[in-house]
Amino acid sequence: MEILLIFFFSHWFISLFFHTFFLHRYSSHQMITMSPTVEKIFHFLTWLFMGSSYLVPRAYAVMHRMHHAYSDTEKDPHSPHFFEDVITMMRHTGRIYGDLVAKRTFPEKEFANNLPVWDALDQFGDHKVTRITFGTLYSLFYLYVIFILEAPGASPFFLLLLPIHYLIGPVQGAAVNWIGHKYGYRNYNTPDKSTNGEPWGLFLLGELYQNNHHKHPESLKFSKKWFEIDFAYPTIKLFSLLGIVKIAKEGQTNA
Ligand SMILES: [Zn+2]
Ligand SMILES: [Zn+2]
Repeated sequence: MEILLIFFFSHWFISLFFHTFFLHRYSSHQMITMSPTVEKIFHFLTWLFMGSSYLVPRAYAVMHRMHHAYSDTEKDPHSPHFFEDVITMMRHTGRIYGDLVAKRTFPEKEFANNLPVWDALDQFGDHKVTRITFGTLYSLFYLYVIFILEAPGASPFFLLLLPIHYLIGPVQGAAVNWIGHKYGYRNYNTPDKSTNGEPWGLFLLGELYQNNHHKHPESLKFSKKWFEIDFAYPTIKLFSLLGIVKIAKEGQTNA
């Protein structure tokens, strides 16, 4: 059982880290700068760890910049206030994202600056065969542990976790977008409906402090109150101390 839980939480937190660090704080907001080589390494790792549900950084960043510009209006790609349920919202977001990835639509000029572009990796990572290969590998690992290794406590019920692995990027994104603009408390009176979620914020590496983030979109640290914890922030600070990245927008670190 432990081996499956370790695998599940490792995939959850490592892919989420690259989601918040590379897709959100770097690609969308440029709170951090890095050399072109380091960018390629982190771009590659984002693909590797998001695997079957890899989100193409340039499309993610454009969509996220739209989210900030049009937050909780009809032009917001994922406001929970315009959809009856989270699945309908995800499908709407997926269409906008898919059009940007396939270049059927092009971003407005204000959203198109400084996007991390690596067409070869993005096309490969977005390909059906690549996605299915990752999904097959996750499934084979579970099947091996449950039915061949017969690890103690590893019951077939663990197979129910597989859909989360297959869709880990969109699942985390939808949780943040739905909960973080609908449920929780507000530290700041912002024009949107953003909220901060606790204790679930701990499991989303700072991403659920949407209200703090919308008030201070220039701030690398998403937590503002003493009881809020953004685990991604000290990790990025460590990268900066090691000289791997530079912090461009430290912003306001506390309320
Ligand atoms: Zn943001
Ligand atoms: Zn938001």
